[in-house]
Amino acid sequence: MARLAQTAGLTDIQQEILATVRNFVDKEIIPVATELEHRDEYPTEIVEGLKELGLFGLMIPEEYGGLGESLLTYALCVEEIARGWMSVSGIINTHFIVAYMLKQHGTQEQKDTFLPRMALGEVRGAFSMSEPALGSDVSAITSKGVKDGDEYVLNGQKMWLTNGGSSTLVAVLCRSDEGLPEGTAPHKQMTTFLVEKEAGFGEVRPGLTIPGKIDKMGYKGVDTTELIMDGLRIPANRVLGGTTGRGFYQMMDGVEVGRVNVAARGCGVAQRAFELGVSYAQQRHTFGKPIAQHQAIQFKLAEMATKVEAAHAMMVNAARKKDSGERNDLEAGMAKYLASEYCKEVVEDAFRIHGGYGFSKEYEIERLYREAPMLLIGEGTAEIQKMIIGRRLLEEYRFQG
Ligand SMILES: Cc1cc2nc3c(=O)[nH]c(=O)nc-3n(C[C@H](O)[C@H](O)[C@H](O)COP(=O)(O)OP(=O)(O)OC[C@H]3O[C@@H](n4cnc5c(N)ncnc54)[C@H](O)[C@@H]3O)c2cc1C
Repeated sequence: MARLAQTAGLTDIQQEILATVRNFVDKEIIPVATELEHRDEYPTEIVEGLKELGLFGLMIPEEYGGLGESLLTYALCVEEIARGWMSVSGIINTHFIVAYMLKQHGTQEQKDTFLPRMALGEVRGAFSMSEPALGSDVSAITSKGVKDGDEYVLNGQKMWLTNGGSSTLVAVLCRSDEGLPEGTAPHKQMTTFLVEKEAGFGEVRPGLTIPGKIDKMGYKGVDTTELIMDGLRIPANRVLGGTTGRGFYQMMDGVEVGRVNVAARGCGVAQRAFELGVSYAQQRHTFGKPIAQHQAIQFKLAEMATKVEAAHAMMVNAARKKDSGERNDLEAGMAKYLASEYCKEVVEDAFRIHGGYGFSKEYEIERLYREAPMLLIGEGTAEIQKMIIGRRLLEEYRFQG
């Protein structure tokens, strides 16, 4: 099934990587995804398979042992993986955000220390901005890093860490307003700390606790956690980039990659929902014919497929823009917004096509229906995307009167 979501202008290598990933998804992910999801079980074997395929190093430069591929290649792989099971794409997303932030902003020593092991999947990344009292309003962060000799002492509580338990390197955004003049803008008071830890739950390093998995309606399998810092001591050379006060910009740069990723996930989940809907519609009969022969259902399929195409095109455009080295916040915001909204709508239409059976846990669409809403929230809600899009449009179309 390859008529929809084609991408023009891919290199032979990109096509080869995508064919390999698609084959892996069809053989190793789709057959087990729903069962693992219902058990909320971490997909250990799938993750090992991804390591063997080299996917943890996909975007990490070759000099550090990765494949040195573009954001576009990565996004297209994520789309394929999310078509199989969205949670698996979540496992690699935060890893890539952290690897990307290291590549773009890390000191040479930080790159040398982490990127080769990240490329192998030995070190696994998570990133942490959100706190119990804030997600959208990053400037309100209260977690704090205070300098003490050659170290920083971190205190605070973080929330919603994707891969919080399974990761071994967390990029944590804290306030670190050492010696700054009164009235310094909040985003200039922030620093990203690279926090190494053991995988698992409980006290994973002195002063650092990962309490346990948050029980979620969907996006199961992948662990989502809190993180509590209580006198956590971090050496000064684990400030990302070596200089304090740049964390907000570093995180926003990483989040742009994350937004393309979430758009790609929306595309993948929507594609799967379309595949399930179009297949079921040809098998289920009512009033003497397959429901696909009723015009109302054909119209649904037409709308679903159009949304799949539109979301894919915008996601590809956003990825290519970032790959070109240009600012892509407008394109990434639009792609994330559109793909997540369309995903929710396409999944709902596929659910409706399934009639009562869509409500049964035996049918894959039931899982997709619980997974799609996360995309409306993660990496910035629809309202936040619209704020970014609106501001950028006003910059671009400034009234000259
Ligand atoms: C499964 C899952 C995984 C996650 N993983 C991570 C992770 O790995 N790392 C991480 O740091 N965070 C993570 N998050 C957190 C996620 O980024 C936040 O939930 C998200 O940014 C929204 O923040 P919030 O939940 O605090 O909602 P709030 O910011 O409280 O927003 C609540 C509502 O108000 C709206 N709103 C807020 N401000 C405005 C405004 N100015 N104008 C109009 N409307 C507004 C929002 O759009 C939303 O509808 C994850 C969340 C989930 C659910």
